[in-house]
Amino acid sequence: MTELEQVGERWDYAPAPESREIVQLRDRYGHYVGGTWREATDTYTTISPSSEEPLAQVGQGTAADVDAAVAAAREAFPVWGALRPAERAKYLFRIARILQERSRELAVLESLNGGKPIKESRDVDLPLAAAHFFYYAGWADKLEYAFPNSTPRPLGVAGQIIPWNFPLLMLAWKIAPALAAGNTVVLKPAETTPLTALVFCDVLRQAELPPGVVNILTGDGRTGAALVEHPGIDKVAFTGSTEVGKEIQRRLAGTGKRLTLELGGKAANVVFDDCALDQAVEGIVNGIYFNQGHVCCAGSRLLLQESIAEQAVDKLKRRLGTLRVGEPLDKNTDVGAINSAQQLAKIRELVASGEEEGAEIFQPECRLPEKGYWFAPTVFTNVAQSYRIAQEEIFGPVLSVLTFRTPEEAVEKANNTAYGLSAGVWTEKGSRILWMAERLRAGVVWANTFNRFDPTSPFGGYRESGFGREGGLHGLAPYLELGE
Ligand code: NAP
Ligand code: MG
Repeated sequence: MTELEQVGERWDYAPAPESREIVQLRDRYGHYVGGTWREATDTYTTISPSSEEPLAQVGQGTAADVDAAVAAAREAFPVWGALRPAERAKYLFRIARILQERSRELAVLESLNGGKPIKESRDVDLPLAAAHFFYYAGWADKLEYAFPNSTPRPLGVAGQIIPWNFPLLMLAWKIAPALAAGNTVVLKPAETTPLTALVFCDVLRQAELPPGVVNILTGDGRTGAALVEHPGIDKVAFTGSTEVGKEIQRRLAGTGKRLTLELGGKAANVVFDDCALDQAVEGIVNGIYFNQGHVCCAGSRLLLQESIAEQAVDKLKRRLGTLRVGEPLDKNTDVGAINSAQQLAKIRELVASGEEEGAEIFQPECRLPEKGYWFAPTVFTNVAQSYRIAQEEIFGPVLSVLTFRTPEEAVEKANNTAYGLSAGVWTEKGSRILWMAERLRAGVVWANTFNRFDPTSPFGGYRESGFGREGGLHGLAPYLELGE
């Protein structure tokens, strides 16, 4: 045993579980349509991925449910869209404040249903979800200033489909700008993480949002497909995989419906030899192990300048040994559960391909719980650009390390991907940051930090990462008609 390990043994953390008491779930949920609960004809069981424990029965939305939800949104639109903008803002401010008031409850539920560590749902998901409502509430009555020389008008009904990695936060990214612009909404959360969206319906009731302005249908991809194809919607906003995004784009071609797509990524995190290395190692860890790597903009390809590669990998491996993997509701947990059995299988398959193709795998020793879905934080070295683990999105806690010698080579390798969502640069030189940012084909480039989000800052991709922006002023435009 090394000296470091001995210290670790002596100073092991005591369990610090967050209480589940604050979450009161019903046994069964329907769909939220027209301000009331619509009985679900078909249901499925949603579980906790960290224990496989059933949490509730939720609806599998049918074509009839989609019809009802779109009809409710259509009916609500003329009134909501014509409401005095300052009045619309009041509702959004109310929702934001209620999210803050109920943030502990919603954070616990997010960790329970999705497997993410409580410190992340508590310190990232919830504060950011509330911040998005606050931010767009502020714009609701200033749209003509946001888009000068135009007459901004809402589009109508937006059909919104979100993934499971940041369930409530993605809901906020979708609903807040749509409502601020005067649209009404039908939203479908991901199959595996419907619960915070369902509790959010209760938040809407508390805020006394007029019926039909927001409708929520749960279910799997079939519900999503029925929503996308419904003739009663004017716009589709989708966040999810590139594969499904492409399918949606095909379906919508020629229909005149507006579309924004936020899809996958394979971000390069580029580390130069002049950076503050210890800080960079923290950024690398945050870049790929945050939210178990279930992050579209995760820094999943680490590009190290050759002169510091060995040292950086050593430091990284040592740091990995200190990550605490386990119970999501423990306040000391750094890496929680993988979201679903399906996602775990996908991660395992890609990791096996990395080993077969010849990459060298490293995983720190960690005891994984017996029940639930888990994957140890993983680093691959000796990775060639052609390997699947350097090309495909793994969407798990798996990092592929590549090296480079010159800035030109770094750019070349960073851009050698079909995606273009985000990138990171670590260097002491401001001029180099700007030089790199100009050349990296990515919607977001972080410098000396990673995975920073702010409602005022637009987010979105190039190429196979999609099109359209969420956040900031840019995030309002897709929900508005900006003609004369
Ligand atoms: P996904 O399978 O594409 O699912 C996304 C959403 O679409 C889910 O609600 C899903 O329902 C639904 N869906 C599935 N098939 C559909 C269809 N044919 N028509 C309409 N909707 C359909 O993606 P995922 O596996 O849940 O999420 C991971 C992916 O999302 C990753 O590739 C990640 O990069 C991407 N992502 C991107 C961003 C971004 O902002 N760019 C953010 C987060 C995630 P089910 O839940 O039943 O599958
Ligand atoms: Mg899916």
